[in-house]
Amino acid sequence: MTGLNSVRRAALAALLVGALSAQARDAGAPSAPAPVTVLKAAHLFDAAAGKLVSPGVVVVQDGKILAVGANAKLPDGAKIIDLGDATLSPGFIDAHVHMSGQDNGDWYKGFFDNLMEHPPELALRATVYTKAMVEAGFTTVRDLGDSDYISLGLRNAIKAGAVEGPRMLVANYAIGSTGGHADQDPIRPDILAQATPIKGVCNGPDECRAAVRYQMKYGADVIKFMPSGGVLSLADPVDVPQLTQDEMNAIVSEAHTWHRKVAAHCHGDLAAKMAIKAGVDSIEHGTFLQEDTLKLMKEKGVYLVPTLFATYWVGSHLDDYPPAIAEKARAAAAQSQKMFAMAVKAGTKVAFGTDAAVEPHGLGAKEFSLMISAGFTPVQALQAATVNAADLLGVSADSGTLEAGKRADIVVLPGNPLADIHVTEHPKLVMAAGKIVRQDPVN
Ligand SMILES: [Zn+2]
Repeated sequence: MTGLNSVRRAALAALLVGALSAQARDAGAPSAPAPVTVLKAAHLFDAAAGKLVSPGVVVVQDGKILAVGANAKLPDGAKIIDLGDATLSPGFIDAHVHMSGQDNGDWYKGFFDNLMEHPPELALRATVYTKAMVEAGFTTVRDLGDSDYISLGLRNAIKAGAVEGPRMLVANYAIGSTGGHADQDPIRPDILAQATPIKGVCNGPDECRAAVRYQMKYGADVIKFMPSGGVLSLADPVDVPQLTQDEMNAIVSEAHTWHRKVAAHCHGDLAAKMAIKAGVDSIEHGTFLQEDTLKLMKEKGVYLVPTLFATYWVGSHLDDYPPAIAEKARAAAAQSQKMFAMAVKAGTKVAFGTDAAVEPHGLGAKEFSLMISAGFTPVQALQAATVNAADLLGVSADSGTLEAGKRADIVVLPGNPLADIHVTEHPKLVMAAGKIVRQDPVN
């Protein structure tokens, strides 16, 4: 093995030397400065201060924000796009998506398709979803679980410019116990082999530690695990813990050692308490959380990612699911907005997340109005999708606010989102890392 590795290293070194000397030959040629684009609008959403400022001006060069504000110097030859009565906002961040698939409205057909479709087909189809996502104004998303590394492939292809989509942070396989929400459906064991830690299924702290290491080995940016049951799975009750405290401690500590954040899928209250004790960074869904748990989260700075739109969507499409799932979905739909109202009162930190895939990709801005109908102000809802989500994802250094030096991730909303939050559902223009990916022709 060592011999083979050293041969490979020598070959790589030779390639690298060739590339570097070619670069050195080109270094003498003067290069023109990158073009500058200026976005102007009536307002700008200052996400850190939580207010609109007027007018809104953002200067963009080379994928980054060069300057912000009415006094910004506009270089000669800059292309100015005047968007009129509109609001410039930091690109939205969705902290809970699954880009690798999408529910097709027929659970049984979906189950059959899952058995028959190959990963390359799923990946190609998913490029339509990533495009819809970024065109809807979501410039960064956190993908919390898939199979066959489809999301990892999408992340890398988007980064390389081969596919259109938002910047992605991915979890690879979600981690959980045998029979739990991360495990496969209970298909006869003589037909479907049992999943092992490499696919996220683990029993006992050592296996769970290994499951985390496998996801990181294959490029996971974040770790997702399943302390409680799920709504859309057949075999598990939704509200009981599915991992022991020792298993949860092993998962969270292993991920944190590698400086990865940890997201915990929790509908049930007891499971959430155990995950918080283990030191998790966010509770996803949180459907049946009690007031004392939401207060504990505030105390410890643990984020809630409420995914109200997913619960609402499933609750309004109960006929699409088998009875065992429909029953769980009905209970969840009745509770999620009540839980969110309690979280607002408790002052729990909230990051925006939709669980896109449960509902079609590209509709995520509907989460804003659901948050507002359960007690958030429009400013709080917009902050959840900008500064707060950036903080949870650990990307505040380059996104979440419109500031010089950050990525030029900008969504332009018609009118004033503080007066009518529904404008978030119809952006006039979207810029992702400096590239305009959507522009309303009326401009
Ligand atoms: Zn999810």
